[in-house]
Amino acid sequence: MARMRAVHVPRPGGPFELIEREVPQSGPGQVRIKVDAYGICHSDSLVKEGHWPGLQYPRVPGHEVAGVVDAVGAGVAEWTAGQRVGVGWYGGHCGHCESCRRGSFITCANLQISGISYDGGYADYMIVPAQALALVPKELSATEAGPLLCAGLGHLGVQFAAKMGFRTVAIARGKVKGSLVHNLGARHYIDNQTQDPTEELMKLGGARVILATVTNAKAMSAMVGGLDVYGKLIVVGAPPEPVELSALQLLVSRRSIMGWPSGTSIDSQDTLAFSVLAGVRSMNEIYPLERAAEAYERMMSGNARFRVVLTTAG
Ligand SMILES: [Zn+2]
Ligand SMILES: [Zn+2]
Repeated sequence: MARMRAVHVPRPGGPFELIEREVPQSGPGQVRIKVDAYGICHSDSLVKEGHWPGLQYPRVPGHEVAGVVDAVGAGVAEWTAGQRVGVGWYGGHCGHCESCRRGSFITCANLQISGISYDGGYADYMIVPAQALALVPKELSATEAGPLLCAGLGHLGVQFAAKMGFRTVAIARGKVKGSLVHNLGARHYIDNQTQDPTEELMKLGGARVILATVTNAKAMSAMVGGLDVYGKLIVVGAPPEPVELSALQLLVSRRSIMGWPSGTSIDSQDTLAFSVLAGVRSMNEIYPLERAAEAYERMMSGNARFRVVLTTAG
């Protein structure tokens, strides 16, 4: 039996452990991916710290995976060995619950999440349902593609918004990011250490949409007052503590707040294609698989510029 490396979390709050195990076989409807690279996401802390209800341990995390189809199981007609593919948060849907019957696969009552419902990308190989795969364009390397497959990325959000033609305002902490965000396409920058973001947004006319990628609930709550009438706060970051809102702020201006876990695999494919078309790229710090624990700490420290990506190549 061929062996492979993987990095798993043995128990809630346990350390990352580099282990060796048998290369898994793809069953009916499944595909085996030879993993090349994967982004470390703040949401991996849900696995690391045991914040996901019902999660079975040990678990290999990782839901920003780029690799190559290595083997296909019975009944998989649409994918063949050698194709370059990616897997994001969406890891498969049941097809028969009410959400699925309405065509909303990401809200499936039996949704599978890569690296949570089954072992994810911190490994040489990974098994996924064929429906979870997105095609990776040849223009993107594996380390470029991985981080594009997840929702909660601030420096990518700025690029996407700007390339899609929005008057884009970046909000972050500190001065240094100011020049950087202009290079990413933002027209305006608000430093929330020295400026009041709500006030500054209202001076610009109020935001139609605020994409909240931060992992700090207070910072999210503080943004609602910067929304224009009918403005929408879209929550893609996942702070562990509750987000608290003033009901009046929502009521008076008919503002709303909405969660967005991710799209499905075809949305990931669209994202990758758009990134090629518009020149959107993730800025990455790259580590080898063996240094997963160190790379994770780097991501959690908030000092990484901007994504920490692991590779399986030496
Ligand atoms: Zn992610
Ligand atoms: Zn379903």
